[in-house]
Amino acid sequence: MKEIVMVKYGEIALKGDNRNVFENMLQKNIKNRLKKLGRFDYYRKQSTIYITPLEDIDIGLVVKKLGYIFGIGAIQRCAVFPKDFSAVAAGAKEYLFDTLDRVGSFKVEAKRADKSFPLTSPQIQQQLGDVVSEAFSHLKVDVHNPDVTVRLEIRDNGAYLSAERLTGAGGMPVGSSGKALLMLSGGIDSPVAGYMMAKRGLVVDCIHYVSPPYTSERARIKVEKLCEELTNYCGDIIFYCVPFTEIQEKLRDNCPEEYFTVLMRRLMVKIANKICERDGYGAIITGESVAQVASQTLSALYCTNAAAEYPVFRPVIGMDKIEITEISRKIGTYETSIMPYEDCCTVFSPKHPRTKPRYEDILTAEQSFDFSALVEDAVEKTEVKRFRYGEETVLLD
Ligand code: ATP
Ligand code: MG
Repeated sequence: MKEIVMVKYGEIALKGDNRNVFENMLQKNIKNRLKKLGRFDYYRKQSTIYITPLEDIDIGLVVKKLGYIFGIGAIQRCAVFPKDFSAVAAGAKEYLFDTLDRVGSFKVEAKRADKSFPLTSPQIQQQLGDVVSEAFSHLKVDVHNPDVTVRLEIRDNGAYLSAERLTGAGGMPVGSSGKALLMLSGGIDSPVAGYMMAKRGLVVDCIHYVSPPYTSERARIKVEKLCEELTNYCGDIIFYCVPFTEIQEKLRDNCPEEYFTVLMRRLMVKIANKICERDGYGAIITGESVAQVASQTLSALYCTNAAAEYPVFRPVIGMDKIEITEISRKIGTYETSIMPYEDCCTVFSPKHPRTKPRYEDILTAEQSFDFSALVEDAVEKTEVKRFRYGEETVLLD
Protein backbone atom coordinates (compact mmCIF):
# COMPACT_ATOMS: atom_id res chain seq x y z
CA MET A 1 0.00 0.00 0.00
CA LYS A 2 1.42 3.35 -1.00
CA GLU A 3 1.78 5.72 1.90
CA ILE A 4 2.52 9.43 1.69
CA VAL A 5 2.60 12.40 4.02
CA MET A 6 0.48 15.48 3.53
CA VAL A 7 1.70 18.69 5.04
CA LYS A 8 -0.89 21.38 5.60
CA TYR A 9 0.06 25.01 5.98
CA GLY A 10 -0.26 26.94 9.18
CA GLU A 11 -0.19 30.71 9.04
CA ILE A 12 1.01 30.71 5.42
CA ALA A 13 -2.56 29.91 4.42
CA LEU A 14 -3.50 33.45 5.53
CA LYS A 15 -1.03 35.10 3.16
CA GLY A 16 -2.19 36.93 0.07
CA ASP A 17 -0.38 37.67 -3.19
CA ASN A 18 3.07 36.78 -1.93
CA ARG A 19 2.03 33.43 -0.55
CA ASN A 20 4.10 31.62 -3.12
CA VAL A 21 7.29 32.98 -1.62
CA PHE A 22 6.42 31.43 1.74
CA GLU A 23 5.35 28.15 0.17
CA ASN A 24 8.63 27.90 -1.72
CA MET A 25 10.57 28.59 1.45
CA LEU A 26 8.66 25.95 3.38
CA GLN A 27 9.14 23.37 0.66
CA LYS A 28 12.85 24.14 0.48
CA ASN A 29 13.18 23.73 4.24
CA ILE A 30 11.29 20.44 4.18
CA LYS A 31 13.49 19.10 1.37
CA ASN A 32 16.59 20.05 3.30
CA ARG A 33 15.46 18.36 6.46
CA LEU A 34 14.35 15.16 4.76
CA LYS A 35 17.14 14.75 2.25
CA LYS A 36 19.17 12.39 4.41
CA LEU A 37 16.22 10.00 4.66
CA GLY A 38 16.04 9.30 0.93
CA ARG A 39 14.34 10.53 -2.22
CA PHE A 40 10.87 12.06 -2.27
CA ASP A 41 8.54 13.60 -4.79
CA TYR A 42 6.94 16.91 -3.81
CA TYR A 43 3.63 18.14 -5.15
CA ARG A 44 1.77 21.21 -4.01
CA LYS A 45 -1.89 22.00 -4.27
CA GLN A 46 -4.57 23.74 -2.21
CA SER A 47 -2.53 24.67 0.88
CA THR A 48 -1.06 21.18 0.99
CA ILE A 49 2.31 19.70 0.14
CA TYR A 50 2.20 16.02 -0.80
CA ILE A 51 5.38 14.22 0.07
CA THR A 52 5.73 10.88 -1.65
CA PRO A 53 8.69 8.61 -0.85
CA LEU A 54 10.36 7.28 -3.98
CA GLU A 55 12.03 4.44 -2.15
CA ASP A 56 11.52 2.41 0.99
CA ILE A 57 11.56 5.02 3.75
CA ASP A 58 10.40 4.94 7.37
CA ILE A 59 7.32 7.20 7.26
CA GLY A 60 7.29 7.46 11.05
CA LEU A 61 10.68 9.13 10.91
CA VAL A 62 9.51 11.47 8.16
CA VAL A 63 6.57 12.53 10.32
CA LYS A 64 8.85 13.04 13.30
CA LYS A 65 11.24 15.28 11.39
CA LEU A 66 8.40 17.29 9.91
CA GLY A 67 7.18 17.97 13.44
CA TYR A 68 10.08 20.36 13.98
CA ILE A 69 9.60 22.47 10.87
CA PHE A 70 8.06 25.90 11.30
CA GLY A 71 5.35 26.89 8.86
CA ILE A 72 3.58 23.53 9.08
CA GLY A 73 0.07 23.54 10.53
CA ALA A 74 -0.66 19.82 10.40
CA ILE A 75 1.01 16.61 9.31
CA GLN A 76 -1.12 13.84 7.99
CA ARG A 77 0.04 10.37 7.14
CA CYS A 78 -2.17 8.74 4.49
CA ALA A 79 -2.58 5.77 2.22
CA VAL A 80 -3.28 6.59 -1.40
CA PHE A 81 -6.08 4.77 -3.24
CA PRO A 82 -7.56 5.15 -6.69
CA LYS A 83 -10.62 7.39 -6.67
CA ASP A 84 -12.99 4.50 -6.32
CA PHE A 85 -14.87 3.90 -3.10
CA SER A 86 -14.74 0.11 -3.37
CA ALA A 87 -10.93 0.23 -3.58
CA VAL A 88 -10.81 2.30 -0.39
CA ALA A 89 -13.26 -0.01 1.35
CA ALA A 90 -11.18 -3.04 0.37
CA GLY A 91 -7.93 -1.61 1.73
CA ALA A 92 -9.25 0.27 4.78
CA LYS A 93 -9.07 -2.54 7.30
CA GLU A 94 -5.46 -3.37 6.61
CA TYR A 95 -4.32 0.25 6.59
CA LEU A 96 -6.24 1.35 9.67
CA PHE A 97 -5.59 -1.76 11.74
CA ASP A 98 -2.57 -0.53 13.74
CA THR A 99 -4.36 2.63 14.80
CA LEU A 100 -7.92 1.42 15.31
CA ASP A 101 -7.21 -1.89 16.95
CA ARG A 102 -6.02 -0.14 20.12
CA VAL A 103 -8.74 2.48 20.57
CA GLY A 104 -12.39 2.59 21.60
CA SER A 105 -14.14 5.12 19.38
CA PHE A 106 -13.88 6.84 16.02
CA LYS A 107 -15.58 9.15 13.61
CA VAL A 108 -15.16 9.70 9.89
CA GLU A 109 -14.54 13.02 8.19
CA ALA A 110 -14.75 13.23 4.44
CA LYS A 111 -13.73 15.95 2.07
CA ARG A 112 -14.48 15.90 -1.60
CA ALA A 113 -12.26 18.41 -3.36
CA ASP A 114 -12.87 16.60 -6.66
CA LYS A 115 -16.57 17.16 -7.27
CA SER A 116 -16.69 14.57 -10.05
CA PHE A 117 -16.46 11.84 -7.41
CA PRO A 118 -19.90 10.17 -7.36
CA LEU A 119 -20.48 10.22 -3.58
CA THR A 120 -21.04 13.42 -1.63
CA SER A 121 -19.06 14.04 1.55
CA PRO A 122 -21.94 12.98 3.84
CA GLN A 123 -22.41 9.83 1.79
CA ILE A 124 -18.70 9.02 2.03
CA GLN A 125 -18.84 9.55 5.78
CA GLN A 126 -21.80 7.25 6.11
CA GLN A 127 -20.43 4.48 3.93
CA LEU A 128 -16.90 4.59 5.26
CA GLY A 129 -18.31 4.63 8.79
CA ASP A 130 -20.11 1.38 7.98
CA VAL A 131 -16.97 -0.17 6.52
CA VAL A 132 -14.93 0.72 9.62
CA SER A 133 -17.62 -0.44 12.06
CA GLU A 134 -17.83 -3.74 10.30
CA ALA A 135 -14.07 -4.24 10.20
CA PHE A 136 -13.56 -3.23 13.83
CA SER A 137 -16.62 -4.39 15.69
CA HIS A 138 -15.28 -3.22 19.09
CA LEU A 139 -15.37 0.43 18.01
CA LYS A 140 -18.09 2.91 18.94
CA VAL A 141 -18.88 5.91 16.84
CA ASP A 142 -18.34 9.12 18.74
CA VAL A 143 -18.76 12.25 16.65
CA HIS A 144 -17.91 14.65 19.47
CA ASN A 145 -14.87 13.23 21.13
CA PRO A 146 -13.52 10.28 19.17
CA ASP A 147 -10.25 8.59 20.00
CA VAL A 148 -9.41 8.60 16.32
CA THR A 149 -10.73 10.55 13.37
CA VAL A 150 -10.56 8.64 10.13
CA ARG A 151 -10.30 11.01 7.20
CA LEU A 152 -10.94 10.40 3.55
CA GLU A 153 -10.07 13.18 1.17
CA ILE A 154 -10.91 12.87 -2.48
CA ARG A 155 -8.42 15.06 -4.25
CA ASP A 156 -7.06 15.52 -7.76
CA ASN A 157 -4.66 12.61 -7.78
CA GLY A 158 -6.36 10.06 -5.61
CA ALA A 159 -8.33 9.18 -2.52
CA TYR A 160 -6.33 9.74 0.65
CA LEU A 161 -7.21 7.72 3.72
CA SER A 162 -5.77 8.72 7.04
CA ALA A 163 -6.05 8.00 10.74
CA GLU A 164 -3.13 10.06 11.93
CA ARG A 165 -3.04 13.82 11.89
CA LEU A 166 -0.54 15.64 14.08
CA THR A 167 -0.37 19.31 14.88
CA GLY A 168 2.66 20.88 13.21
CA ALA A 169 5.18 23.25 14.79
CA GLY A 170 3.21 26.28 13.55
CA GLY A 171 4.72 29.69 12.82
CA MET A 172 6.38 30.79 9.59
CA PRO A 173 9.09 29.02 7.56
CA VAL A 174 12.59 29.77 8.81
CA GLY A 175 14.21 32.20 6.41
CA SER A 176 11.00 33.89 5.33
CA SER A 177 11.45 36.83 7.71
CA GLY A 178 15.16 37.60 7.38
CA LYS A 179 17.91 36.78 9.83
CA ALA A 180 18.76 37.75 13.38
CA LEU A 181 21.58 37.25 15.84
CA LEU A 182 20.71 35.46 19.07
CA MET A 183 22.80 36.28 22.13
CA LEU A 184 23.07 32.73 23.37
CA SER A 185 24.25 32.18 26.92
CA GLY A 186 24.30 28.81 28.60
CA GLY A 187 21.07 29.52 30.49
CA ILE A 188 17.49 28.43 30.10
CA ASP A 189 16.08 31.60 28.58
CA SER A 190 18.10 32.44 25.51
CA PRO A 191 17.65 29.09 23.69
CA VAL A 192 13.91 29.49 24.23
CA ALA A 193 14.11 33.03 22.84
CA GLY A 194 15.89 31.70 19.75
CA TYR A 195 13.28 29.00 19.26
CA MET A 196 10.49 31.56 19.51
CA MET A 197 11.98 33.90 16.94
CA ALA A 198 12.81 31.08 14.52
CA LYS A 199 9.11 30.27 14.78
CA ARG A 200 8.39 33.73 13.38
CA GLY A 201 10.40 32.82 10.29
CA LEU A 202 13.78 34.25 11.22
CA VAL A 203 17.05 32.56 10.48
CA VAL A 204 18.63 32.49 13.93
CA ASP A 205 22.41 32.51 14.19
CA CYS A 206 24.09 32.64 17.58
CA ILE A 207 26.67 34.80 19.28
CA HIS A 208 28.31 33.73 22.51
CA TYR A 209 30.89 35.56 24.63
CA VAL A 210 33.58 33.58 26.44
CA SER A 211 36.16 34.65 28.97
CA PRO A 212 38.86 32.02 29.25
CA PRO A 213 40.46 31.17 31.62
CA TYR A 214 37.66 32.49 33.86
CA THR A 215 35.14 30.47 31.91
CA SER A 216 35.96 26.88 31.08
CA GLU A 217 36.06 25.03 27.81
CA ARG A 218 33.15 22.99 29.15
CA ALA A 219 31.00 26.11 29.37
CA ARG A 220 31.66 26.76 25.75
CA ILE A 221 30.99 23.16 24.74
CA LYS A 222 27.71 23.36 26.61
CA VAL A 223 26.63 26.40 24.60
CA GLU A 224 27.69 24.71 21.40
CA LYS A 225 25.52 21.79 22.38
CA LEU A 226 22.57 24.14 22.86
CA CYS A 227 23.27 25.49 19.43
CA GLU A 228 23.20 22.01 17.97
CA GLU A 229 19.94 21.29 19.75
CA LEU A 230 18.43 24.42 18.28
CA THR A 231 19.27 23.24 14.75
CA ASN A 232 16.35 20.83 15.10
CA TYR A 233 14.08 23.85 14.79
CA CYS A 234 16.28 26.48 13.17
CA GLY A 235 18.12 24.41 10.56
CA ASP A 236 21.80 25.28 10.06
CA ILE A 237 23.16 27.80 12.55
CA ILE A 238 26.26 29.98 12.38
CA PHE A 239 27.90 30.26 15.78
CA TYR A 240 30.06 33.28 16.64
CA CYS A 241 32.27 32.81 19.66
CA VAL A 242 33.62 36.13 20.91
CA PRO A 243 36.74 36.33 23.12
CA PHE A 244 35.59 38.60 25.93
CA THR A 245 38.29 38.20 28.58
CA GLU A 246 40.21 41.37 27.93
CA ILE A 247 37.10 43.52 27.89
CA GLN A 248 35.94 42.05 31.16
CA GLU A 249 39.33 42.57 32.79
CA LYS A 250 39.47 46.18 31.68
CA LEU A 251 35.94 46.67 32.95
CA ARG A 252 36.84 45.18 36.28
CA ASP A 253 39.96 47.32 36.59
CA ASN A 254 38.53 50.62 35.42
CA CYS A 255 34.84 50.88 36.08
CA PRO A 256 32.72 51.03 39.24
CA GLU A 257 31.83 47.52 40.28
CA GLU A 258 28.15 48.24 40.83
CA TYR A 259 27.75 49.04 37.12
CA PHE A 260 29.72 46.09 35.90
CA THR A 261 26.84 43.95 34.64
CA VAL A 262 25.16 46.67 32.64
CA LEU A 263 28.44 47.91 31.19
CA MET A 264 29.36 44.39 30.20
CA ARG A 265 25.97 43.86 28.59
CA ARG A 266 26.35 47.10 26.63
CA LEU A 267 29.73 45.96 25.35
CA MET A 268 28.24 42.64 24.30
CA VAL A 269 25.59 44.52 22.38
CA LYS A 270 28.18 46.80 20.76
CA ILE A 271 30.03 43.74 19.48
CA ALA A 272 26.75 42.27 18.25
CA ASN A 273 26.01 45.55 16.42
CA LYS A 274 29.22 45.22 14.46
CA ILE A 275 28.59 41.63 13.50
CA CYS A 276 25.03 42.49 12.47
CA GLU A 277 26.33 45.24 10.27
CA ARG A 278 29.11 43.19 8.75
CA ASP A 279 27.11 40.01 8.14
CA GLY A 280 23.66 41.42 7.40
CA TYR A 281 21.57 40.61 10.48
CA GLY A 282 18.45 42.70 10.93
CA ALA A 283 17.91 42.25 14.67
CA ILE A 284 19.39 41.05 17.93
CA ILE A 285 17.57 38.49 20.10
CA THR A 286 18.05 38.06 23.85
CA GLY A 287 16.53 35.91 26.56
CA GLU A 288 15.80 38.83 28.88
CA SER A 289 12.68 38.77 31.01
CA VAL A 290 11.59 41.78 33.05
CA ALA A 291 12.51 41.59 36.73
CA GLN A 292 14.24 38.21 36.55
CA VAL A 293 17.65 39.50 37.69
CA ALA A 294 19.30 42.84 38.49
CA SER A 295 20.27 43.44 34.88
CA GLN A 296 16.68 43.07 33.80
CA THR A 297 15.03 45.97 35.58
CA LEU A 298 13.54 48.67 33.38
CA SER A 299 16.46 51.02 34.05
CA ALA A 300 19.03 48.35 33.26
CA LEU A 301 17.17 47.30 30.13
CA TYR A 302 17.02 50.95 29.08
CA CYS A 303 20.79 51.23 29.37
CA THR A 304 21.45 47.99 27.49
CA ASN A 305 18.91 48.79 24.84
CA ALA A 306 20.43 52.20 24.22
CA ALA A 307 23.65 50.52 23.08
CA ALA A 308 21.84 48.59 20.35
CA GLU A 309 21.78 49.84 16.79
CA TYR A 310 19.30 47.18 15.73
CA PRO A 311 15.88 46.20 17.00
CA VAL A 312 16.26 43.94 20.02
CA PHE A 313 13.75 41.11 20.19
CA ARG A 314 13.07 39.73 23.66
CA PRO A 315 10.34 37.17 23.11
CA VAL A 316 10.38 35.93 26.72
CA ILE A 317 10.23 39.42 28.21
CA GLY A 318 6.77 38.93 29.71
CA MET A 319 7.06 35.27 30.64
CA ASP A 320 7.86 33.89 34.05
CA LYS A 321 10.61 31.39 34.67
CA ILE A 322 8.18 28.48 34.93
CA GLU A 323 6.67 29.20 31.55
CA ILE A 324 10.09 29.60 29.95
CA THR A 325 11.27 26.38 31.57
CA GLU A 326 8.27 24.52 30.23
CA ILE A 327 9.13 25.54 26.69
CA SER A 328 12.77 24.64 27.20
CA ARG A 329 11.74 21.15 28.27
CA LYS A 330 9.42 20.84 25.31
CA ILE A 331 12.07 21.85 22.80
CA GLY A 332 14.76 19.70 24.40
CA THR A 333 17.26 22.31 25.59
CA TYR A 334 16.49 22.19 29.31
CA GLU A 335 18.80 19.35 30.30
CA THR A 336 21.75 21.03 28.63
CA SER A 337 20.85 24.47 30.03
CA ILE A 338 20.97 23.26 33.61
CA MET A 339 24.47 21.86 33.36
CA PRO A 340 26.48 23.75 35.95
CA TYR A 341 29.30 25.45 34.01
CA GLU A 342 30.03 29.10 34.77
CA ASP A 343 29.08 31.72 32.26
CA CYS A 344 31.12 34.89 31.71
CA CYS A 345 28.39 37.01 33.30
CA THR A 346 28.65 35.25 36.62
CA VAL A 347 32.43 35.30 36.84
CA PHE A 348 32.90 38.98 37.67
CA SER A 349 29.38 39.71 38.74
CA PRO A 350 29.26 42.35 41.49
CA LYS A 351 28.03 41.54 44.97
CA HIS A 352 25.72 44.52 44.97
CA PRO A 353 24.72 45.44 41.45
CA ARG A 354 22.89 48.72 41.00
CA THR A 355 19.34 47.69 40.13
CA LYS A 356 18.31 51.14 38.96
CA PRO A 357 21.33 52.50 37.14
CA ARG A 358 20.95 56.01 35.74
CA TYR A 359 21.81 56.21 32.08
CA GLU A 360 24.01 59.29 32.61
CA ASP A 361 26.01 57.44 35.25
CA ILE A 362 26.46 54.48 32.97
CA LEU A 363 27.74 56.69 30.18
CA THR A 364 30.15 58.39 32.58
CA ALA A 365 31.39 55.06 33.90
CA GLU A 366 31.87 53.81 30.38
CA GLN A 367 34.10 56.76 29.60
CA SER A 368 36.62 55.76 32.20
CA PHE A 369 38.17 53.52 29.58
CA ASP A 370 38.17 53.63 25.78
CA PHE A 371 36.76 50.27 24.77
CA SER A 372 36.44 50.91 21.05
CA ALA A 373 39.74 49.29 20.06
CA LEU A 374 38.98 46.27 22.24
CA VAL A 375 35.54 45.92 20.69
CA GLU A 376 37.06 45.98 17.20
CA ASP A 377 39.66 43.48 18.29
CA ALA A 378 37.07 41.11 19.77
CA VAL A 379 35.08 41.20 16.53
CA GLU A 380 38.25 40.51 14.60
CA LYS A 381 39.16 37.53 16.78
CA THR A 382 35.67 36.05 16.87
CA GLU A 383 35.66 32.41 15.86
CA VAL A 384 32.95 31.30 13.51
CA LYS A 385 31.55 27.79 13.24
CA ARG A 386 28.62 26.32 11.43
CA PHE A 387 26.31 23.79 13.03
CA ARG A 388 24.50 21.78 10.44
CA TYR A 389 21.11 20.30 10.96
CA GLY A 390 21.20 16.55 11.45
CA GLU A 391 24.81 16.19 12.40
CA GLU A 392 25.89 14.36 15.50
CA THR A 393 25.70 16.25 18.75
CA VAL A 394 28.91 16.44 20.78
CA LEU A 395 27.95 14.84 24.05
CA LEU A 396 29.48 15.82 27.36
CA ASP A 397 30.44 12.96 29.59
P1 ATP B 1 19.73 32.97 30.13
O1 ATP B 1 18.88 31.98 30.83
O2 ATP B 1 19.42 33.08 28.66
O3 ATP B 1 21.19 32.80 30.43
P2 ATP B 1 19.50 34.82 32.24
O4 ATP B 1 18.19 34.84 32.86
O5 ATP B 1 20.60 34.06 32.87
O6 ATP B 1 19.34 34.38 30.73
P3 ATP B 1 21.26 37.05 32.03
O7 ATP B 1 22.42 36.25 32.46
O8 ATP B 1 20.98 38.38 32.67
O9 ATP B 1 19.89 36.32 32.09
O10 ATP B 1 21.41 37.30 30.50
C1 ATP B 1 20.43 37.98 29.79
C2 ATP B 1 20.62 37.72 28.31
O11 ATP B 1 21.89 38.22 27.88
C3 ATP B 1 20.65 36.26 27.98
O12 ATP B 1 19.35 35.74 27.84
C4 ATP B 1 21.41 36.25 26.69
O13 ATP B 1 20.58 36.62 25.61
C5 ATP B 1 22.44 37.34 26.92
N1 ATP B 1 23.71 36.78 27.43
C6 ATP B 1 24.12 36.69 28.69
N2 ATP B 1 25.33 36.13 28.79
C7 ATP B 1 25.73 35.84 27.54
C8 ATP B 1 26.88 35.23 26.96
N3 ATP B 1 27.91 34.81 27.66
N4 ATP B 1 26.91 35.10 25.61
C9 ATP B 1 25.88 35.52 24.86
N5 ATP B 1 24.78 36.10 25.36
C10 ATP B 1 24.68 36.26 26.67
MG1 MG C 1 22.39 33.49 31.99
